[in-house]
Amino acid sequence: DPGLYLVATPIGAARDITLRALDVLNSADMLAAEDTRVLRHLMDIHGIPLRGRRIIAYHDHNGDRARPALLSALAGGASVAYCSDAGTPLVADPGYRLALDAAGAGARVHVLPGPSAALAALSLSGLPSDRFLFLGFPPATSAARQTWLRQWLAVDATLILFESPRRVNRTLGDLCEIAGERVTVVARELTKKFEEVIRGKAADLAADPALETLKGEVVMVIDRPGTVVHDDARVEEVLRRHLAELSV
Ligand code: SAM
Repeated sequence: DPGLYLVATPIGAARDITLRALDVLNSADMLAAEDTRVLRHLMDIHGIPLRGRRIIAYHDHNGDRARPALLSALAGGASVAYCSDAGTPLVADPGYRLALDAAGAGARVHVLPGPSAALAALSLSGLPSDRFLFLGFPPATSAARQTWLRQWLAVDATLILFESPRRVNRTLGDLCEIAGERVTVVARELTKKFEEVIRGKAADLAADPALETLKGEVVMVIDRPGTVVHDDARVEEVLRRHLAELSV
């Protein structure tokens, strides 16, 4: 079918790709990717031939120049598959303007859901997952980061943010300035060989030397304000009191 296909790709383990994503990569008239070599490599792993198709580069730095050719192919009835480097396109990744303009021009936009580092980290974090807020990358300077953190830490939701491994320690330090007691999870190298989930109070993680020299890719997940820790003894006491009141 014609239209733009937003195709999620693995965030580590190459086989974390859906059968439908493989079908679309196989059959699309046109292929576009944030990094053409990354998509080429993924197609090679899964034995999908290019069959004369060229992969077109579409990323933050050439989007304005590259978009017209893709939009005109869509207008001509082509099917165009778009992949970012890893995970779900548009989520802290290019593709937003492409999808918006394609829909605006009347093309059908299809989504092929799949891996996303943000949701993978939330699932593993052990933090409440019923209400969460994805924040993307924090600002790179400490002053801006603290202002930014202060704003979001007040929100009654689990927070998910991406961070460069070199800055995790500094961001934990800033987090401590505001909410050192807040349970925080550092999820590293998800679905890869050195996958690791580190959980603790922000203040403890900030003091952990192992987190000063992290390698790989990292998602941070932060608990909401004042999560109630379930204490069975306390629950029983409250229940007993209510029962006593009922029988009066
Ligand atoms: N669109 C992607 C997605 O849906 O997962 C996210 C792209 S964003 C440019 C890249 C960031 O995602 C990394 O800096 C890191 O914070 C996070 N990330 C990607 N893969 C990861 C992995 N395997 N483990 C931990 N974090 C990962």
